[in-house]
Amino acid sequence: MTAPDLLKPALYRAEGSDTDPDHPALLGGACECGHVFFPPQTYGCERCGRMSLATRALSGAGKLLASARVHLHGGKTRAAPFTIVSVRLDDGPIVRTLLAGDDAVHPGDRMVTMLVPVTNAEGAELLDLRFVPQR
Ligand SMILES: [Zn+2]
Repeated sequence: MTAPDLLKPALYRAEGSDTDPDHPALLGGACECGHVFFPPQTYGCERCGRMSLATRALSGAGKLLASARVHLHGGKTRAAPFTIVSVRLDDGPIVRTLLAGDDAVHPGDRMVTMLVPVTNAEGAELLDLRFVPQR
């Protein structure tokens, strides 16, 4: 049996990065000037303006900067409560996404990526990226 497809394969992959092979990598980019970014884009470096950007698999690990627990959500696609987290990846970029589970988290916590099963609008079973506190 093969694993379900990813919900957003342009943004992450099941395999880890070279620096963190144990957790799914985020797919970002890097410039010759050293600027590392996420999500991937082709508009040019946000720091120096160069157009020659390389793709880079970013470490699926980082430090929690902030979190927000959402108890009432106007959208019909996601049931509250849930928690949004801002994580500074070890590779530099800040990612804002969902926390997997209901564990309490605190700024400074080590966080890692994981893939969780989700159902898309068409009812297909897919995998989406979340962060969890590192055990
Ligand atoms: Zn640059």
